[in-house]
Amino acid sequence: MTNNNDMSEMISLLQKLVRADSENPPGDTGKCAQVIVEALTREGIPYKIEEPKPGIRSVIAVLEGTKPGPTLLFNGHIDTVPAGTGWSLDPFGAEIRNGYLYGRGSTDMKAGIAAGLAALIHLKREGAAFAGTVILTAVGDEENHSQYGTKYLLSQGLKADFAVNCEPTNLDICLGNRGLLMIDVFVKGRSSHAGRPGLGKNAVILANRIIEGLNALDFSYSRDDRFKDPLGSVSVVGIHGGGRINVIPDSCVFYLDRRMMPGETGDLAVKQIEEVITQVTGRLPGRKGGALIDETSSDPGEPEALINPEIWHEPFWMGEDNPYVQRCVETYRELFGKPPVFEGKSAGTDASHLVSIGKIPTIIFGPGDYRVSHTIDEGVEISQLDGALRYYISLVKKLLN
Ligand SMILES: [Zn+2]
Repeated sequence: MTNNNDMSEMISLLQKLVRADSENPPGDTGKCAQVIVEALTREGIPYKIEEPKPGIRSVIAVLEGTKPGPTLLFNGHIDTVPAGTGWSLDPFGAEIRNGYLYGRGSTDMKAGIAAGLAALIHLKREGAAFAGTVILTAVGDEENHSQYGTKYLLSQGLKADFAVNCEPTNLDICLGNRGLLMIDVFVKGRSSHAGRPGLGKNAVILANRIIEGLNALDFSYSRDDRFKDPLGSVSVVGIHGGGRINVIPDSCVFYLDRRMMPGETGDLAVKQIEEVITQVTGRLPGRKGGALIDETSSDPGEPEALINPEIWHEPFWMGEDNPYVQRCVETYRELFGKPPVFEGKSAGTDASHLVSIGKIPTIIFGPGDYRVSHTIDEGVEISQLDGALRYYISLVKKLLN
């Protein structure tokens, strides 16, 4: 089905993508989008560009089959986290060593993009002999909030009957991912001379009591063993308060990372945190629009805590009984000669936006070991690229026949 030519073209595409630095921040995906556009233009595959914010560019390629039918979407991001320091090789060199291709974004997830693009090219050269439409969206902004990437495309009417998110899964089928709620908690106190603490109200101590309450939350109800990390969690990922000598701190802010399992929702997780705060302060926290608390205010009517929640990803799990999922499984068995392991991904992906906002049934399947995502010396096993390419091509043939 695929041949050496497909492979060498795909590897060279991946090298160009890795060399086209797209660190986020700042999130400029222009160079990377250009690599994709050049390949599409050369092959005569129609595409559109969306750039809702300068520099954050997404490419939407559309390949129509020779007969009408459903739409299959391949989705992936072309922005990466910053390379950082400490690499033993050039993070933008795309060097090949011992069967791996190295560089920032090689695994997360330019390999998935290269495989999706190579599949599109392969299908086009074969004469697009399928019934339906294949769309490839190579988006920006995923390593931030997806607001100008996948979420934007969905707001502009991106639709499909079924989607494959090409994030690295080690060539396993992931049927879901955990959700993520980021929440800032601002705690107000009252300052006084530190030698007379009873006259003030120590915001750091109040924050500490809230954190203890959060740490005592029992997430065993959320257990889902289909996930490698099978429980919901809440973690304090930063804290800032006080610092002046002699003064009882009147404000403290801390930041929470709340992971959610399928069955939990962002709204429920926010309520749970509000309850803990209410137990400690005796008052429901207010909502804050992102700005730091006004430290000069001593209005006794104001709540003692304010929260600023932002739901990054809703958790999801695709039912195994979805007819498209069943055909994905069939394709997997035929191609790899074994049943897939239905794993749930620990981290959030754009798949959750496709499912929760776009109502598009979605699986996650892509080349690369997700454990090296965001690490130094990130590299992708080249043999996995071949597996991904063959799976994507087979899926189109199976789902759009
Ligand atoms: Zn990713």
